[in-house]
Amino acid sequence: METSNLKTVALVGRPNVGKSTLFNRLIGKREAIETPIAGTTRDRLYGEVLWQSEKFNLVDVAGIEAGTKTEIDRNIQEGVEMAIENADLIVFMVDWSDKDNEADKQVARKLRKINKKVIIAVNKADNIERIEALEEFERFGNFKVVPISAISGKNTGNLLDAIVTELVTKNSSPIVEEEKESNLINLAIIGRPNVGKSTLLNTILGEKRAVVSSEAGTTRDVLDVIFHHKDAKIRIFDTAGLRRRGKIIKDTIESFSALRTARALRNSEVVILVIDAEEGLVAGDVHILGQAKEFGKGIILAVNKIDLVERDIREFMAETLDKLQLELNFIPWLPVVFISAQDGDNVKSLLNQVVKVSENRRTKVEQEDLDRILEFAKESNFQLQNAKSLVQKKNNPPIFELRYTREKPHYTQIRYLENKIRDIFPMEGSPMFIDLLSVGRNQKRKRSSKR
Ligand code: GDP
Repeated sequence: METSNLKTVALVGRPNVGKSTLFNRLIGKREAIETPIAGTTRDRLYGEVLWQSEKFNLVDVAGIEAGTKTEIDRNIQEGVEMAIENADLIVFMVDWSDKDNEADKQVARKLRKINKKVIIAVNKADNIERIEALEEFERFGNFKVVPISAISGKNTGNLLDAIVTELVTKNSSPIVEEEKESNLINLAIIGRPNVGKSTLLNTILGEKRAVVSSEAGTTRDVLDVIFHHKDAKIRIFDTAGLRRRGKIIKDTIESFSALRTARALRNSEVVILVIDAEEGLVAGDVHILGQAKEFGKGIILAVNKIDLVERDIREFMAETLDKLQLELNFIPWLPVVFISAQDGDNVKSLLNQVVKVSENRRTKVEQEDLDRILEFAKESNFQLQNAKSLVQKKNNPPIFELRYTREKPHYTQIRYLENKIRDIFPMEGSPMFIDLLSVGRNQKRKRSSKR
């Protein structure tokens, strides 16, 4: 499932307002993916929508009910909240023919409190004389109101236009702005269910004087946790999914984990991937690590529950590292920390590693050093003879540019060069990139002057 770069739109509303009809209409012939909500017979759906060359994920969230009573209701409610938290935009669907509905007003109150863009889709508004009744919904808050008819499809294009416009203009989230703060590290803790993520978070919170941020009084901020470690300020954001406990709820969260992971990757600089010591890596973990690397995130692998290892721990660690090295040969620079989230063993080292990786990700290499490294690489790798110069274009994560003449250096040569850079500047835990730039035109003159 390719959810990684797509923004997410959550479709919320009471049951029977026509959400399914709208959902099906918007995703068209695309395939909807059903994920059951544990403890209920209901499914939640998500699918991709393509409109005006913009693509986004649409999640059909279970119906919001007022005054939820049963546990199942509460679980659904948790799922709804989770979806809302994870969404970049919320489409709140209401029914024109039932416009004075108390439950809708409650939902609107909730939506007003969160710092997200909301579009109200007023369904069954197919008769033009009904338009003035939209004022009713405009009172719900500072939300855009779009009348539609899900059944006939009328105005759904307007709704899509509104969605895409909002998604495209929503580009300066507070997270991105704060990232500029030099000592702030946005950290995400990810991994499969039951590997111990929430235990790890709780242990960290138990040890640190953490601030559960409520700066803007928004739901999202309330769920961010900020604490100091060494000279750094670390923010673990979107902790909602980590903090809620209980099996059924966990399953509900699990159904969103792909979206949650994608979001966590997008908003963080450093990622801790937690795995269970006994289980080791699974395919999903490898995929996430690959994604994190591609996105330029600092990465740390935390092997948790070492307290359960009954064998000699040193032997176990050595063997695990050997195995990981084979399985993760595409990230030889990945730091691995063995922890017991439950007992707190090595949790401090893990946080030290977070700070270190974040620093490594900000590495700036002097031009002199790069010149020397390139010279050395060229001497030992004949195929790099076409390389002219190596410069660093950016850091955080480090991006270099290799300028070359004649043929483009082969991938293996780039990898070789990366290893040479890392021999001197290991940048443990940080991806780095080498872009290629052809400077072919000068090549002839330069070459002849050299000879
Ligand atoms: P999450 O789904 O990744 O958030 O996992 P949890 O933190 O809820 O942990 C799942 C289960 O593993 C719980 O029963 C925890 O008590 C247990 N657990 C978590 N970390 C450790 C650990 O370091 N050692 C042991 N023995 N159990 C752990």
